[in-house]
Amino acid sequence: MEKVFDVIILGGGPAGYTAALYTARAGLETLVIEKISAGGQMTLTGDIDNYPGFPQGVDGFTLGMQMQQGAERFGAKTEYNEILEVELEGKIKKITTFGGDFYAKTVIIATGANPRELGLRGETELVGQGVHYCAHCDGRFYKDKTVAVVGGGNSAAADALYLSRLCKKVYLIHRRDTLRATKIYHEPLMKAENIEFLWDSSVREFISDGSFKGVKISNIKSGEEKEILCDGVFISIGRRPATEFLKDISLDDSGYIIADETTKTNIEGVFAAGDVRTKTLRQVITAAADGAVAADKAEEYLQK
Ligand code: NAP
Repeated sequence: MEKVFDVIILGGGPAGYTAALYTARAGLETLVIEKISAGGQMTLTGDIDNYPGFPQGVDGFTLGMQMQQGAERFGAKTEYNEILEVELEGKIKKITTFGGDFYAKTVIIATGANPRELGLRGETELVGQGVHYCAHCDGRFYKDKTVAVVGGGNSAAADALYLSRLCKKVYLIHRRDTLRATKIYHEPLMKAENIEFLWDSSVREFISDGSFKGVKISNIKSGEEKEILCDGVFISIGRRPATEFLKDISLDDSGYIIADETTKTNIEGVFAAGDVRTKTLRQVITAAADGAVAADKAEEYLQK
């Protein structure tokens, strides 16, 4: 007879390990399945200064590890493996990974979301060789160099500011004539002397002769094309939820799991927490809050 956990949590980011902390602390047998390392997308963030309790800020890697340790203190286990498929209908749920099958009475999906790509020719080959998705991870390779950031949301704004402190010059390429990013970013961005805005502009191709040389952009309104020579480009155009492996679960048009503040999905005993579910604010704190709610709902479900 296979072992059946009370709760299996898919994903070891802030939502996953907060859920694990709550379920393990409530005495439920808890397993977290994580692909690479604790912390999820948070580990790609150098300084998190909007998670309370850390007056000097905290780096995402450290916070991720500490969240894992907090859950493991109460007996939560971690399995490092890639999830291949899941069978979530029925009383016992089955999770198939590269390393074997795992069974549970309830499942909390906290797999988060990954950076969105531009989808241009050569993009995959140039990843890490001029094309990047995480300024805090890879920005240091471009000290005193020229880089471009693509996007107009909070991530692009934060990345451009971060890079402006490190690099000689930063081009911010956005397809509109205003930023989507919250107001708090506007003033420092405008004040940074080494940031140049390229509005209404869309990246058409990467310039490369085997090594990355820059990007070709075109103006959406005038059609004018321009070559922007730079040493690297950081693509910050939002994220794609990690839900490809799911079936039978209701997703919205962008692929996020449809679940409200209760974290309940359309399947009994299955909950969605953190960036992977439909929500208005995707932050470490909202992910952690979801984890606590999901754990509470899972416990309630198990008691029925
Ligand atoms: P986002 O808010 O969805 O913004 C994505 C940006 O990329 C938009 O400006 C969008 O342009 C642009 N874009 C999308 N697809 C594109 C494409 N194919 N080509 C060119 N541009 C494209 O994503 P995000 O900035 O990654 O933020 C994600 C979530 O994390 C948000 O909820 C955000 O508030 C949160 N976040 C918060 C902070 C913070 O508060 N400190 C920092 C980072 C992220 P359009 O404007 O034209 O749609």
